[in-house]
Amino acid sequence: MTEKQRKALDHKNPDFDVDALGNWMHDLVKQLFPICRSLTGPGNRETLAILGETVDLELTEVPSGTEAFGWTVPDEWSPRSAEIVGPDGVTRARFADNNLHLLGCSDPIDREMELEELLEHVYTLPDEPDLIPYVVSYFNRNWGFAMTDREKQALPPGRYNIKIDTTLRPGSMTLAEAVLPGTSDREIVVSTYICHPSMANDNLSSIAVATALYKLIAGTPQRHYTYRFLFVPETIGAITWLSRNTEHAKEKIAAGIVLSCVGDDGPLTWKLSRQGDSEIDRIARLALPKMGLDHQVTPFGPAKGSDERQFGSPGFDLPVGLLTRSVPGQFRVYHTSGDDTDFVTPSGLSGSLRAAYAIIEGLEINSQRYKRVDPHCEPMLSKYGLIHAVAVRNSIGYDMTTDPLVALRWVLNFCDGEHSLLDIAERSDIALPALADAAERARDAGVILEL
Ligand code: ZN
Repeated sequence: MTEKQRKALDHKNPDFDVDALGNWMHDLVKQLFPICRSLTGPGNRETLAILGETVDLELTEVPSGTEAFGWTVPDEWSPRSAEIVGPDGVTRARFADNNLHLLGCSDPIDREMELEELLEHVYTLPDEPDLIPYVVSYFNRNWGFAMTDREKQALPPGRYNIKIDTTLRPGSMTLAEAVLPGTSDREIVVSTYICHPSMANDNLSSIAVATALYKLIAGTPQRHYTYRFLFVPETIGAITWLSRNTEHAKEKIAAGIVLSCVGDDGPLTWKLSRQGDSEIDRIARLALPKMGLDHQVTPFGPAKGSDERQFGSPGFDLPVGLLTRSVPGQFRVYHTSGDDTDFVTPSGLSGSLRAAYAIIEGLEINSQRYKRVDPHCEPMLSKYGLIHAVAVRNSIGYDMTTDPLVALRWVLNFCDGEHSLLDIAERSDIALPALADAAERARDAGVILEL
């Protein structure tokens, strides 16, 4: 890796304006919020068309009925309108007001019925009476509405006019990907999902962070790894992509990040890959504590999470972890109308972007190995211009992990051709970018070599 290359992937780079990017991502979330997305359908393509203004996307339309590892790509769902008109003449649960009112993949219907029959098709959250739940029926034909429990309890008896205008028929599921080539054909995958309707944290936040990450990486003059961004429906989309790219994924994917629910101000969370101790897991363990935010590292588990479960299925077992803030399923407004554009914040989004970027920066840094020219004893630093002329003692309690001279001494000891900069970071608690700076200074002075 050259000096120029690493500097380009440095979050201290003035091009990386965290506040401006936080606002940019929040604006993107607000722009995408009204669109009704699902596993398939026009809302997904509309979303991808907007992302395509920033990301050089390649779209693949996979026909309904296509088999993928035993799963079947569903028919294409197109919602147009839905509403309930009560005996009092009041219109309720209008799709146009909030697309969560309509059961995902709902069948069409246009007829009158008594309240009792309607109530069999109304979904609410009794323990959160002011929130509309996000409900879907992907694999069973049904029709239905979601509303607040308070609204349901106030429905007057009598006859209701029910109208749902949707179609579900053979079409295709849209997969989108974008590749930023590096000097190596080994790939870092950044994957997120595009199948959720109007909810901001789950999962417009991750779409926005992935898009901003693409902007940043695309802006670098060169990079070691090739980067592949996936914007696909959760589960069935990731499974279908993996089934179409099975050998490529096994041979080329060096590491990956799945993004989900990264827009709130909850603790930065890295869910370890199935391997648990892969390079990206080790880098994430080191990077998160240095973000200055609450953080946690959680074990891999197949019961919860997102598409890291597909990348981490035993046939692939790829080192792909999950980056979230508040864990999906464990925050109050999860999968409800309360997950709106006020629930995500520019600072929440930019904190996640910084973390994802730091992990990627760590992978780039650690792709370079160094070796001492002469490994015997310590080199005479003053002879190489690597130490100040006057030595003054440090105060007691001085933070050694931020001292460039300390980083240099670690590099000069452990750059023996065997230890990676990641090994040194783990032993010293010095951040990888600081070790990379030290290694580059030592290399420029002719004390160590790039391997
Ligand atoms: Zn979800």
